Amino acid sequence: MKKIVALLLVLISMPVLASVKVNEVRYTVAPDTSRLVLDLSSSPSYKVFTLPNPARVVIDLDNARLRSGLPNVNLSGSPVQAVRSGIRHGRDLRLVLDVSGKVATKSFVLQPASGNQDYRLVVDIQGGAAAPAAASVQPQQAAPLIKAAPAPVAQTKPVNSQPVVVAHAPSESHLRDVVVAIDAGHGGIDPGAHGPHGVKEKNVTLAIARKLKKLLSVEPGIKPVMIRDGDYFVPLRKRVVKAREAKADLMISIHADAIDDRSVKGSSVYVLSERGASSEAARWLAEKENAADLVGGVSLDDKDDVLKSVLLDLSQTATIEASDRAGSKVLDELGTVGRLHRHRIEHAGFVVLKAPDIPSMLIETAFISNPQEERKLKSPRYQKQLAEAIVEGVRDYFQENAPPGTKIALANAERKYTISKGDTLSGIADQYGVSVHTLRVSNKLNSDRLYVGTVLRIPSSDGT
Ligand SMILES: [Zn+2]
Repeated sequence: MKKIVALLLVLISMPVLASVKVNEVRYTVAPDTSRLVLDLSSSPSYKVFTLPNPARVVIDLDNARLRSGLPNVNLSGSPVQAVRSGIRHGRDLRLVLDVSGKVATKSFVLQPASGNQDYRLVVDIQGGAAAPAAASVQPQQAAPLIKAAPAPVAQTKPVNSQPVVVAHAPSESHLRDVVVAIDAGHGGIDPGAHGPHGVKEKNVTLAIARKLKKLLSVEPGIKPVMIRDGDYFVPLRKRVVKAREAKADLMISIHADAIDDRSVKGSSVYVLSERGASSEAARWLAEKENAADLVGGVSLDDKDDVLKSVLLDLSQTATIEASDRAGSKVLDELGTVGRLHRHRIEHAGFVVLKAPDIPSMLIETAFISNPQEERKLKSPRYQKQLAEAIVEGVRDYFQENAPPGTKIALANAERKYTISKGDTLSGIADQYGVSVHTLRVSNKLNSDRLYVGTVLRIPSSDGT
C-alpha cells in the first residue's frame, strides 16, 4: 500500500498539461452495447470504472473541460438513466452515468482518423436494464442539442454499427429480481467446528441455508441462489466466484462460532475489513487472467497495476459500505431471536467476503461450542427462527438499497408519496388503503400538517 501511495504522489505532482477539450459527446444504443463517444482535442489521460449501490459508471478525464455543457441525448432503450458532469480538483472532468443495474465497461482511445482531428474516447457499456422511453440526459446548463449519432466503429473490435434505439414502456417485464447468494459454511471433508455433543457446523449451516432459501424464494422480487446445496466441499474462492456468476446483489455466508470457553454465546455478523480488502486487492490483481472480469465490471485491461489497485479499492470501499448497511439490518433482527455476542457489526478479512462488487456478510449464527446453543442450532424450530430473522434484515436492506432496474426498486418508488398542494393526510391514507395513524407513525409525524414537497413513506399495510 505504501508503494501505491508514493506512486500516487508522483502522479499528483506531475506538471500540468494543456487542457483537453471535450468537443462533442455522442451516445448510441445497440442491442447489446451502449456506446458513449467523447471527441477530444488531444490525447486524454483517463480512467473508467464502475461503482455499485447505486450502480454508476464513472469517467475521469485529467485536466479536461466540456466545451459546451452536456448535450441532451436520448437515452431510451439504454441502461444509462442519467448523465452528470462535475469538475474535480479544479481541473479534472468527471462524468457520472447512472445505470440500471450492474454493467460491464470497456474503454479505448482512437487516434485521429483522416478528415477528423479529434481523438475519440470510446466507452462501451454492457448489461443493466433498459431505461424507460422518457429517460433523457438532463443538461446542467444551456447546451446545443446533439442528436445520438452512430459511433465510429473501432477497427480492433467490430460491433454492430447500426444504432437501434428501442423505446420501452416502463413495465415489470424489464425489471429483474435481486439475487441473494446463500453460502452454507464448510461442507464435505471440511466439517467446520463441532459442539460438545458432536453437532457439526457444516450440517447446521446447510439446514439454516435451506430454510433461508425457502423463505426468500417466496419474497416478492428476491431470487435466492445456493452456493452449496449438499454435503460437499467448495473452496472459499470458488464460493465467491459462484456468487459472481449468479450475479448476486448480496452474499450471505452462514456459520456457527466456536471458542474454548464454553460459556460464550450469541450471534455475530461480520463484513470485510478495509485491511482485508487492501491485501486482497493485491491478490485479485495477481490473478491476471481473471482480473478484467473480476473487478466489478471495471475494464482494467488497458491500465497499469497502480491504477488497477486504486480502482479496485474504490469499488471495494463502496461495497463494504453497502455490506455494513446490510449486515446491520440482519444483526438487528438476529437480536430479536436470540442474544447477540456483539452488538455491532464486526470487520474481518474472511476470504468468502472478498467479492469486490457484491455486498457480503458472514453470520456466526450462534456458538456451537456452547452446549445450550449447540442444542438450539440443531433444532429445526430455532434454525427457522434464525432464517426468518435474516429474511427480515434482507428485506429491510433492499427496501432502502434496491439496485435500480429491480422489481423491488420499482415497488419502493411506488410506495413513496410526494406531498403537493391541497393534499391531506386522510386523503393520502384513503388512496393507499392505510390508516392515518399508520402514516403518522411510519413517517414520525407529530401533527396532520403537511408540507409541499415532503416525501411520505407508505407502509405496505396497517400494522407492518
Ligand atoms: Zn465456520
